[in-house]
Amino acid sequence: MTETAQIGVGWVHVHAPRPDSVVLRRVHCPTCERRRFFVVSHTPWYGINETCLWCGERFDDEGRAERPFERGWRKRSIESARRHYRRYRTLPETHSSTPGGA
Ligand SMILES: [Zn+2]
Repeated sequence: MTETAQIGVGWVHVHAPRPDSVVLRRVHCPTCERRRFFVVSHTPWYGINETCLWCGERFDDEGRAERPFERGWRKRSIESARRHYRRYRTLPETHSSTPGGA
């Protein structure tokens, strides 16, 4: 998601925004109609982004993200999510959604 965010945007060149939380989570996938592992990424300003590691379907705060009209997008989406997870998984998860937590 973040890698394609600047397509069609004419203003300044910006780096992909850095997520403040990237975790693996097993939740129900509406496309697979069963529980799957998702890479769940939260980025300030952009919000939540979830990618099913089985079907490659992406979801954000609005629901299911638009599907690209290209061959092999599911595979690329899954690979992209895996790269994203490997790159950012070491981030501390403590400040993601636990206000008041120690
Ligand atoms: Zn799925």
